[in-house]
Amino acid sequence: MYLNSRIQRVKPSETLAVKTRAMELKAQGRSIVDMAAGEPDIDTPEHIKEAAVKALRDGKTKYTAVNGIPELREAIAAKLRDENGLEADASTVIVTNGGKQAIYSFFDVVLEPGDEVVIPSPYWVSYPVMAEMCGGRSVIVKPRAGAGLKITPEDLRASLSPRSKCFVINSPSNPTGVAYTASELKEFAAVLKDFPNCLIISDEVYEKLIFTDVEFVSFAKAAPELANRTVTVNAFSKTYSMTGWRVGYASGPKEIIGAMGRHQSQTTSNICSIAQYAALAALQGPQDFIREMLSNFTRRFEIGYKVLESVRGVELLARPDGAFYLFIGIAPFLNGAGKGKIKGSAEFANFLLEQSGVAVVPGEAFGDDHAFRVSVSSSDDNVRAGFERLEEVMAQFS
Ligand code: PLP
Repeated sequence: MYLNSRIQRVKPSETLAVKTRAMELKAQGRSIVDMAAGEPDIDTPEHIKEAAVKALRDGKTKYTAVNGIPELREAIAAKLRDENGLEADASTVIVTNGGKQAIYSFFDVVLEPGDEVVIPSPYWVSYPVMAEMCGGRSVIVKPRAGAGLKITPEDLRASLSPRSKCFVINSPSNPTGVAYTASELKEFAAVLKDFPNCLIISDEVYEKLIFTDVEFVSFAKAAPELANRTVTVNAFSKTYSMTGWRVGYASGPKEIIGAMGRHQSQTTSNICSIAQYAALAALQGPQDFIREMLSNFTRRFEIGYKVLESVRGVELLARPDGAFYLFIGIAPFLNGAGKGKIKGSAEFANFLLEQSGVAVVPGEAFGDDHAFRVSVSSSDDNVRAGFERLEEVMAQFS
């Protein structure tokens, strides 16, 4: 066996398994409604594309500074200061290949073997896998029943120990869309104060996609006393519909950002030069299309809420504040309505796909095997068709 034990423990992404099967069915001529998408459905705005074309024409095609072109780092630092109220300058910012690389690289520079990474569930699929690939051990914090898929400060305290190296906070969350308020974040900070060796990574990639009256607050703004051990991660992927461009960033203590820079210098070097100029245009250009994206998502959520109210066997586990996902529980269905045949979320997702051609992501990928995630990031008609087909399938069991 040539492969090391770390990679042998890594399973392929569940999201991809659903996608692959959905594509197979589509190729066979089946009508497929894709509700598994993890990216906005609109195209990258024109002015951002134009900036990339200009960069290409201007010959911005060579290596750049490893941590990113100075003007982009400066613009990101200004955004973090002005919008998020954080202390930042170009030297505390690193531009990475998507938010994903920022998180991976952070884990790789801070974790020693066996260090614990405390992750609230349901969580974004990659946190535990990445932490474990970097030698860490994930400690999953489950929200209590009826807590709206949020953990409490008491839950957090019970999961922390002197071995905790890092706490991951993702608000608004993928897969639930729930966001923590400033006072909830402050309560977490009060707990974390008692664990001085524990770093905080705040994944804020859905920052702009909030549509309730919850006000987005960066963790380091809510808890400035912990800013010296907090790394803030964000990306252009969701806000600017730039998932394919691979631009994200991290900002935080110089020592950690410096180490991430050394890590990047020996692994990927800078991210694509052209994508960096596009990202600069995204930050500096008009922001109004974000409102349009939000109103699309809000309208499509309403379509889903209406159907879900009347479908037996499924339950919306929490009303999202942001992002573009609904996390839907299927515990009653698994406990009987499915005649005991369907045991978990992967089987359910597969069943839904085979029966009705609707692709969703099984909750097992997010640490909850009694739920699944749907995305409303596709046309209204597609979303409507997806929920109607779900309703038809569930009607067989009620
Ligand atoms: N963090 C969360 C919570 C996400 O949902 C995603 C992507 O789905 C990422 C990070 C990674 O984003 P990127 O595409 O910028 O790497």
